[in-house]
Amino acid sequence: MQPLVFEPILKRIRWGGRRLGSVLGKPIGKHADYAESWEIADHGDDQSIVSVGDFLNWTLRQLVENKSHELFGAERICKQFPLLIKFLDAHDRLSLQVHPDDELAVKYDPQENGKTEAWVIIEAEPGSRLYAGLKEGVGRDELDSALQAGTAEDLLHSFTVTAGDCVFIPAGTVHAIGEGILLAEIQQMSDITFRLFDWGRLGSDGEPRELHIEDGLAATDFTRGSVSPISPRTIAEDDGHRLEELVRGEYFVIHRHTLKNRATASVSPDNRFHVLMVVDGAVTLNCAGETMTLDRGRTALVPAECDGEVQFAAHDGAVVIDSFLP
Ligand SMILES: [Zn+2]
Repeated sequence: MQPLVFEPILKRIRWGGRRLGSVLGKPIGKHADYAESWEIADHGDDQSIVSVGDFLNWTLRQLVENKSHELFGAERICKQFPLLIKFLDAHDRLSLQVHPDDELAVKYDPQENGKTEAWVIIEAEPGSRLYAGLKEGVGRDELDSALQAGTAEDLLHSFTVTAGDCVFIPAGTVHAIGEGILLAEIQQMSDITFRLFDWGRLGSDGEPRELHIEDGLAATDFTRGSVSPISPRTIAEDDGHRLEELVRGEYFVIHRHTLKNRATASVSPDNRFHVLMVVDGAVTLNCAGETMTLDRGRTALVPAECDGEVQFAAHDGAVVIDSFLP
């Protein structure tokens, strides 16, 4: 198989903006609230559809069911594609939320997974803030009271971010994405969210949005404390190319390639799929003589049994995020 590219699935939510189009080149329309672009999805009716090549118009589900060896490699066969890959534009602040882990998620829906996620910041307006975890020592009763009183912000750990920062949010971590942030999100294939607090705002219908405080408190890991941006670990570096490991967790590993000028890098065949996201610049992907251009904001799925080594060459500098199973 050759690397696969899919149609983005755009989601409009009232906190969204226009940068999925203006920065990342997504085909947005005239509205002001484009919130998420689901780049790789195999979740119920949300199915990524191949946009070019041999498997044109196949859904990711069809690939998972009919090409499992080619897609996953013999040692990592999955019944569902395990990662949900998104770009997200927080023009306004998202609600304060928490996701359950695998064990708890199936109690709500036997088909669901827990949701551990990670963010890589693409752009952030000055002073933009992420909320990740609780201040040290905050327990269930204290958070519950603050949620009722509307003062939960005082109990949250938060920090300002700039482009390139990465944050790892295990299931059970209370979190919110602040206004002004454009990011890439790598997460388990799951859509379970418990909304704890909406900052006292009203929804588009003039009513407060539904909260799930009991479920959210039950899903919160109060032993976690605060979560800070990760410190990338450099794996390899030469003149034009730096490879860093951002995350190595139970559910996914995230590497980052930073390429200068026209430098090249590669994904060696290692019997597992790789999801490549171009978060800055542009690259030409080359696999067994077939080439494709990936501009900023494009995502490619490199199957485990690819026709050959996948090389990518920067056009004039590029940053590529590579996500894969451990
Ligand atoms: Zn989340």
